[in-house]
Amino acid sequence: MPIIQPPRLRNDCFALPSGVNWTPVDQAKQRLRNVLSVVVSGGHKISVSEGNDRILFSEIYAARSNPPGSNSAVDGYGFSGPVETGMQVLNLAPGRASAGAPFDGMVEKGRAVRILTGALLPEGVDTVVLEEDCTVEASRIAFNGPLNKWSNTRGAGEDILKGSPMFGVGHRLSPTDLSYIASAGVSNIEVFSRLKVGVLSTGDEVRELGSGALDWQIYDANRLMLLAMIRELGFEAVDLGLVKDERNKVRQALNAGAEKCDLLITSGGASAGDEDHISAILKSEGMLNSWRIALKPGRPLALGLWNDTPIIGLPGNPVAAWVCALVFGRPAMEVLAGGHWREPRGYKLEASFRKNKRRGRSEYLRARIMDDGRVEVFPSEGSGRISSISWSDGLVEIGFEEELIELGSKVRFIPYSEFLRPSYVDL
Ligand code: AMP
Ligand code: MG
Repeated sequence: MPIIQPPRLRNDCFALPSGVNWTPVDQAKQRLRNVLSVVVSGGHKISVSEGNDRILFSEIYAARSNPPGSNSAVDGYGFSGPVETGMQVLNLAPGRASAGAPFDGMVEKGRAVRILTGALLPEGVDTVVLEEDCTVEASRIAFNGPLNKWSNTRGAGEDILKGSPMFGVGHRLSPTDLSYIASAGVSNIEVFSRLKVGVLSTGDEVRELGSGALDWQIYDANRLMLLAMIRELGFEAVDLGLVKDERNKVRQALNAGAEKCDLLITSGGASAGDEDHISAILKSEGMLNSWRIALKPGRPLALGLWNDTPIIGLPGNPVAAWVCALVFGRPAMEVLAGGHWREPRGYKLEASFRKNKRRGRSEYLRARIMDDGRVEVFPSEGSGRISSISWSDGLVEIGFEEELIELGSKVRFIPYSEFLRPSYVDL
């Protein structure tokens, strides 16, 4: 199949229904999921050995069965079963069957043949007795029955049946998937091209790491985090640098980014304030929707298009940028890359903390699992505490309606590893 390009995202795709004020997290995710579609080209043929972390463009069907033929699961003696209760004595046929050298010929009824693990069952053999259960003489064996037919054998195709579907479009391949596919005799697969994600930082006060910084200045703590995260997700990360809050500079950087990337991720300047140049320029020269999402930490999240390239504007605060990148950015990227929207699995654990929360918004607390299996949260909820995202192993998600967490209440803990590599598809 030739390489094909998907249609562009619609210009108004990020528009929220009118009248919506603070959008609940679940609704925002649902909405995002509905409007996003694949933006990368598909149909690239690659070898399965190159397939780890790639997203499938076409389905995979088994080219052969596994095992291709019925074989022995153990080292022992093969014969035609079943056999009854009581002592069995069988004469041995000359020769043997091994995995690398199948037995040539047929084993007569009432005889047995030496057979090793993985060896194809010779004609006339459907049952194998373990060598440990046999007394062996030069030309015969004895063992105790009963033994059912097919004992200690593996049936042809019991693992994979030739022609059966293995993986569908949008599946992201793991190392174990490669093994499974190879066993089914498939050597080439078709994948989507890797999503290229550009990352841009903005802010007059933000400085490049390694340069000098005055007291009012801070080092860029977002770009390296987001670039590293994108690489870890198997996407291509493109460093678009750091720009001042000046419209010309922002425009240039967005143009350059849109030229070479499939998605732009910015941090900072995404609110509606005076210095929020990302929002301002998208509104007047591109297409922007600021999503006011009922979540802490997080708002604002800007979604838009710049020269037809989707753009996700994350908050400047590194804690909020990290949380929004995990909750919205991660699944969004997977869909843009041709994959499925996947929700992370959460684990209900006992809280080692108390908390009062306002109804009507979701909260994500930086958390980790203690040695006793309970979950603890970072001592300060301040979103300025960048140390907290490094300290934590995941987030406790507190739902929209929840108000009170008592010591020992069950809370939903989502490990960062689950956000990054969700272990199931939530449809
Ligand atoms: P903004 O979203 O631009 O209003 O920024 C919110 C807060 O995050 C401000 O305190 C910024 O100084 C800070 N901030 C913005 N970008 C970065 C960055 N790349 N690294 C660290 N802090 C940032
Ligand atoms: Mg700013």
